[in-house]
Amino acid sequence: MCVFCEIVKGNIPSYKVYEDDVCIAILDISQATIGHTLVIPKKHVENIFSLDSELASHLFKVVSELAKKISIALGVKNMNILNNNGSLAGQSVDHFHIHIIPRYEGDNLEIKFASNKLTPEEFNDLLNKIK
Ligand code: ZN
Repeated sequence: MCVFCEIVKGNIPSYKVYEDDVCIAILDISQATIGHTLVIPKKHVENIFSLDSELASHLFKVVSELAKKISIALGVKNMNILNNNGSLAGQSVDHFHIHIIPRYEGDNLEIKFASNKLTPEEFNDLLNKIK
């Protein structure tokens, strides 16, 4: 059973802030910060690696619209847009979703980036692999 599929079907209640034919947006039950919202495709797609680009485009369009709406509604000028893919990346529900997380002064939410020092050769090796 997939929790998000059950929410989409209405079998599990949710606080739905947006819905169209393709996706829904709901208030995250854990509210990492106040206004924390999830944009979820109605179709079960596990993660970014199985998300087709047309659906990705639609989802990000909705994210961009909702981010502005939430910003105005809650009076916030800072926000993280976050998507986790796979357990190492912190994905807790294996149904693709994008987090909209409003940020407030002193909200105690930590998102930290590590730093890896690469030589120019290592950067070029990486480029060649990815391109
Ligand atoms: Zn699902």
